[in-house]
Amino acid sequence: MRKVLISKAINPAGMKVLEGKFEPVILPDSSEETAIRLVSDVEGVILRTNIRVTRKIMDAGPHIKVISRTGVGIDNVDVAAATEKGILVCNTPGLNAISVAEQTLALLLSLAKQLRLMDKSVREGNWKMRYAERAVDVEGKTLGLIGVGRIGSLVALKCRLAFNMKVIAYDPYVKHLEGVELCSTIDQVVSQADFVSIHVPYMEETHHLVDARVLSLMKPDSYLINTARGAVVDEKALIEALEHESIAGAALDVFEKEPPSPENPLFRFDNVVTAPHSSALSRECVMKVAVTAAQAVVDFLEGRQPKYVYNKDGLGLK
Ligand code: NAD
Repeated sequence: MRKVLISKAINPAGMKVLEGKFEPVILPDSSEETAIRLVSDVEGVILRTNIRVTRKIMDAGPHIKVISRTGVGIDNVDVAAATEKGILVCNTPGLNAISVAEQTLALLLSLAKQLRLMDKSVREGNWKMRYAERAVDVEGKTLGLIGVGRIGSLVALKCRLAFNMKVIAYDPYVKHLEGVELCSTIDQVVSQADFVSIHVPYMEETHHLVDARVLSLMKPDSYLINTARGAVVDEKALIEALEHESIAGAALDVFEKEPPSPENPLFRFDNVVTAPHSSALSRECVMKVAVTAAQAVVDFLEGRQPKYVYNKDGLGLK
């Protein structure tokens, strides 16, 4: 039977799509060496975020025709190498927008209401914390978005409707968005916002987009939320900003190195809320993306063009 490599087990609904058609080969670990060893006879790859599909892996898998991401970010695929080799790169845009937007609101509220500190205080018998006046209300505050594509625009809508927030945003590629004041610089957004939330893809242009300079423009009582990719924020600069209390706190679903080291200084702060890159991992979402990513592989290997092809233009497809 023809083989499909899966970088890490996917939801059973996705496995069902392959059943009887392709033999799944699940990577036992996330090292490049293991992938190189197992890729020689596979025709498709279903890729989660645990490994990067490098040119070396593609060289070792001469029969690979399609790489399908169970998500929207394709920063863990060498797309240039794939396109050069005629390999289709697929993703699942939009399918995780609801889950990531919901998680963003959960993180925003947990920062505003200081839930991490409050929970810790109750467990430690520090009932007096209720008088500390640490929580703030969100109603009417300003949300500053960096990137207003599928996720960012949904966060904008939810925050406007749920909390009557004023929403401002920086996204040089978006010319109009209902109910959102678009700013021409990132500086204008971060200097006015009470909550800054990042929703850009990771690429050369967005590497350390939020650096020491940008952080220094944030208000001392403002919060940063990152559910995009770790390296969009200069983590060292963020730690310094937290140390100097030049911002009020941060919520991070993503890190520069994943998983982060237990020694990461970010874990010392009570005003930092973290999640293990789990924004898109709700039960509903993992099922949807697993089925869509697996279907893309089956479609292409059976001669049909998948719904979402990321490198369509590079491959000259319609
Ligand atoms: P999208 O492509 O719909 O939107 C991205 C937006 O960023 C676009 O509007 C684009 O114009 C804008 N942008 C690009 N470069 C920019 C720049 N330099 N400055 C400002 N804006 C810029 O993508 P999406 O579905 O909204 O997802 C956004 C990102 O969120 C993904 O690329 C992915 O990395 C991340 N993500 C994370 C998780 C998670 O589990 N934490 C899940 C899904 C997506």
